[in-house]
Amino acid sequence: MSTASTSHPAPSGVEPAAGPLAGARAQLAEAVALLGYDEGMHAMLATPRRELTVSVPLRLDNGQTRVFTGHRVQHNLSRGPAKGGLRYAPNVDLDEVRALAMWMTWKCALLDLPYGGAKGGIAVDPREHSAGELERLTRRYTSEILPLIGPERDIPAPDVGTDERTMAWMMDTYSVSTGHTVPGIVTGKPLALGGSLGRPSATSRGVVHVALAALAETGIRPAGARAAVQGFGKVGRDAVRFLAEQGVRVVAVSDQYGAVHAEAGLDVAALSRHAASTGSVTGFAGAEPLERDALLEAEVDLLVPAALEGVLHEGNAQRVRARVIVEGANGPTTIAADRVLAERGVLVVPDILANAGGVLVSYFEWVQANQAYWWRAEDVEQRLEERMLGAWRRVRAYAHDHGLPLRTAATVLAVERVAEAHLLRGLYP
Ligand code: NAD
Repeated sequence: MSTASTSHPAPSGVEPAAGPLAGARAQLAEAVALLGYDEGMHAMLATPRRELTVSVPLRLDNGQTRVFTGHRVQHNLSRGPAKGGLRYAPNVDLDEVRALAMWMTWKCALLDLPYGGAKGGIAVDPREHSAGELERLTRRYTSEILPLIGPERDIPAPDVGTDERTMAWMMDTYSVSTGHTVPGIVTGKPLALGGSLGRPSATSRGVVHVALAALAETGIRPAGARAAVQGFGKVGRDAVRFLAEQGVRVVAVSDQYGAVHAEAGLDVAALSRHAASTGSVTGFAGAEPLERDALLEAEVDLLVPAALEGVLHEGNAQRVRARVIVEGANGPTTIAADRVLAERGVLVVPDILANAGGVLVSYFEWVQANQAYWWRAEDVEQRLEERMLGAWRRVRAYAHDHGLPLRTAATVLAVERVAEAHLLRGLYP
């Protein structure tokens, strides 16, 4: 089952009522209206360039076979090769991957990276599978999407449910198929295979740089400010650590199993050890248990959603007490929640800015792999900080000058760059 689809609802057509794709399309429509582009340009920007849906048969350890469905969507290629993560989660579907690919296009453009946007995913719960099964699944998926990917075509990276081990398998499968080692085919690789120093914690580092800037903007001093972080995976775990290092009091943390709360501030190192040994933050002796989603409504200055899409919605946005929200996750705030939060004066730093540190250091990794020359950790961290804060300042200034929320400002700046590339390249034939 392999489909390259070309037909999509027109941007102005009937939208699904909710979901990340409806949100992503509404954000684009707003930016297009502000930029005064016509329907043709809107359609160019809204429509994924290429989509591939593949079946991924897997031989289980018990000898049985199961068939999974995977996708790879390249949303836009006008500024360079497609770039975007690979997600393993039970609820992955094509519309979610389309939305995530579109956000990658804007994120790369906002950071001025020479990339378009892409995303991939398999509808699978990785916790239900052995390492051997995950390896076979990853290799088969990689071989199914080989026609789309390549270091100058489309470069995957880790996302929810995948990690550097997944990237090593992808790199090996691609390299074996081409007959030579191609480190630039993925980013987020292990160091020993040409990964970059600083890549594993880059998203979290970027989140914290921007969070500190946003707190300062709101007149809140980091030392003693209270924070809650949703998600304790690749993004959340290190965000908690870096916030604590800056003197922020992290009072609540959650994962898919539940949440924990300590008014005096969590002992972050002990919490990390507990989560590493038990697989969850729940049951941590140094804190009280908290209902999982109550974390979003905790009495804090800063809220960092770093898990899933759509967690801040019409039903809970009124009850959010944070003054600053920094989106570690992609798409955690629905359009309806965005409106409520704006009315209530909550400063929301949008995903395409807040979590761009990951793709930024992925870009550094790709540059290093292409040059076969590796940078020191200090170089990576310094360039990450410079570019994240540079993007923050540009977005903040544009928002201020035009009286816009940060998300709208960031989307307009990004969309304008992509549209400029379209106009300069012209339409073939
Ligand atoms: P991950 O799989 O490493 O971690 C996800 C975490 O979220 C886990 O701790 C999981 O238990 C938790 N979680 C799941 N459901 C939850 C729920 N209902 N409530 C609370 N916690 C829940 O994934 P990740 O790489 O950390 O990605 C998290 C988010 O950040 C995603 O939106 C992803 O697209 C985005 N992101 C990731 C990167 C990156 O470099 N990994 C970069 C940019 C954006």
